[in-house]
Amino acid sequence: ARRILAAGNWKMNKTPSETKALIAEMAPAVASDEVDVLLCVPAIDIPAAVEAAKGTNIAIGGENLYFEESGAYTGEISAEMLVDAGATYVIMGHSERRDYFGETDEDVNKKVIKALEHNLVPVMCCGESLTQREQGITMDWIRQQVKIGLLNVSAEDVKKVVIAYEPIWAIGTGKTATADQAEEVCKGIRDLLRELYGDAVAEEVRVLYGGSVNPGNAAELFAKEDIDGGLVGGASLKTSFGEIVNYNK
Ligand code: 13P
Repeated sequence: ARRILAAGNWKMNKTPSETKALIAEMAPAVASDEVDVLLCVPAIDIPAAVEAAKGTNIAIGGENLYFEESGAYTGEISAEMLVDAGATYVIMGHSERRDYFGETDEDVNKKVIKALEHNLVPVMCCGESLTQREQGITMDWIRQQVKIGLLNVSAEDVKKVVIAYEPIWAIGTGKTATADQAEEVCKGIRDLLRELYGDAVAEEVRVLYGGSVNPGNAAELFAKEDIDGGLVGGASLKTSFGEIVNYNK
């Protein structure tokens, strides 16, 4: 069975000193034997986060990486740097990076491969816009994003990948997809994984839902067959994130 992953994405919030204080405060609330807990934080906060999370069940991840190994890429962060700083996961393909920074499916694919090469767990995001949903092309769009994102990723490697389905219209809007809407797409993603990698592999890949997840809706979302946790924005910046982690208590 797949373990639930409660993952936070802090986006561009919290300084290193705020990070230290918030994780110290949050740690008791997010303690859990059953659920994996992850906080993806701004790159500059990673050392403080790793230090503060020592001895807790909180894993720390980055929010982005560059797909080259090293070199003249001013301002970028490599997989090796993330690993050396103590990160064990990294997000790629978030809709904010696609929209504001021009990240393409091909970039996402290179980032997935680079992360895997360095033993970082990729958290690969996908999601449709409201217009695409209204046009009825949600699943076609998601299938294309996931297919390209996973190009040349082996069956052995894909088991380590976390896929996060985040409908753009549900991000930061307080407008959550209903549990049924979220399940429909997460199941569609697993069906695609079945086509690409076979049943056994598809059963192992964790598929998360993201978009206005909060303590009030986490239990219903996480109870769905194909939803293996959440990628949580705003609600991961508060100690009440613990109520999402302990959704079944
Ligand atoms: P919110 O939970 O703030 O809607 O953000 C979701 C998200 O984008 C997580 O990556």
